[in-house]
Amino acid sequence: GAALTTADPDIAHLITEEIERQNDGLELIASENFVSPAVMEAMGSPLTNKYAEGLPGKRYYGGCEVVDKIEQLAIDRLKQLFGAEHANVQAHSGASANAAVFLAFMKPGDTFLGMDLSQGGHLTHGSPVNFSGLLYKAVSYGVTDEGLINYEHMRAMAREHKPKMIIAGYSAYSRVIDWQAFADIAKEVGAIFMVDMAHFAGLAATGQYPSPVPFADVVTSTTHKTLRGPRGGIILCKAEHAKAIDKATFPGMQGGPLEHVIAAKAVAFGEALQPAFTDYCRQVIQNAQVLAQALVARGYHIVSGGTDNHLMLVDLRSKGLTGKVAEKALDDAGITVNKNTVPRETQSPFVTSGIRIGTPAVTTRGMTADAMQEIAALIDRVLSAPEDVATIAAVKRDVKALADQYPLYGATSRV
Ligand code: PLP
Repeated sequence: GAALTTADPDIAHLITEEIERQNDGLELIASENFVSPAVMEAMGSPLTNKYAEGLPGKRYYGGCEVVDKIEQLAIDRLKQLFGAEHANVQAHSGASANAAVFLAFMKPGDTFLGMDLSQGGHLTHGSPVNFSGLLYKAVSYGVTDEGLINYEHMRAMAREHKPKMIIAGYSAYSRVIDWQAFADIAKEVGAIFMVDMAHFAGLAATGQYPSPVPFADVVTSTTHKTLRGPRGGIILCKAEHAKAIDKATFPGMQGGPLEHVIAAKAVAFGEALQPAFTDYCRQVIQNAQVLAQALVARGYHIVSGGTDNHLMLVDLRSKGLTGKVAEKALDDAGITVNKNTVPRETQSPFVTSGIRIGTPAVTTRGMTADAMQEIAALIDRVLSAPEDVATIAAVKRDVKALADQYPLYGATSRV
């Protein structure tokens, strides 16, 4: 808007530049999406001025009567969306939500079981450079050579190590997860069963992917991926854990909640409760399946052979490419993906043998099957000649032409 352009032209200009980047490219990073103008408006509101430590009706600051209503709406909508017994909407991010759960159920040094980062888990599921691996004893399970969860190994690790907590839900896993299998082994060894549904939360909310909520003691998520809300986190849990989760979030992990972001979460949850969001999630999965098949038809190897959700892992070894080279070449052509380790990885995490591709963002733009076929062809042109400057430039023009058919943020949301 005019205020920012006048007060800080540098930042205003850079925001416009980023809006153009988002408009002109093909966003295929599986963890990204485009929020609605309504969500953005709530985020950019004077609610950012308010301190509200505590929970609705139980605050440590005066003047919370309005934000109380906002946060309660966010909680109620979220509980409705997932049929959850209890919800806390204050986590600043997915990582903060996970840290709060660790704090609620474990003491430093306690053992937990999670998926290895290189096999699809998240940093917060036990990586040695993350709080989860630094403060707690992480033991891990992984995937089979075909890229499917190795349930046998997971059970064996659970029985051997008797973890306090078992985590399922990942950053780079494209298949349905057997929640019952995890719940059963957690019960057997006396562990808390935690699911991190950050990636597929929107799909689970709308019944397009199995929801972990009935099976898990506690479920965390980000709000900015398939759920298509503002950047943030949430925690859902069974009623018996409500107090522990609320206490671990505040005062355990965080100070004042971000009420402007919580308002934006409420708006996004309201959007997700509309029938149109279910159609959107169905289309996200269809698009991922069409894109995966179109890549297979061009000779690409998709880990596990396909996808049940919004993402796929492409193993590029059969094409003689690394993830690093592919990511860079595609980025130069206006197609954003991320390099990713694959099962039986032979490269370092900085190089990798694969890329992760997701459809939530392009589907928000309105793209359907035909556009997915076109995207597969564009990806293939780049990856068939990743060093060829002329090819990259030509694809970049075609990427912009495709993107222009699906306008994103118009002039009204430009600063
Ligand atoms: N959990 C999973 C499974 C994720 O994929 C991510 C983000 O990529 C997170 C947690 C962390 O979320 P945030 O980046 O908001 O901390």
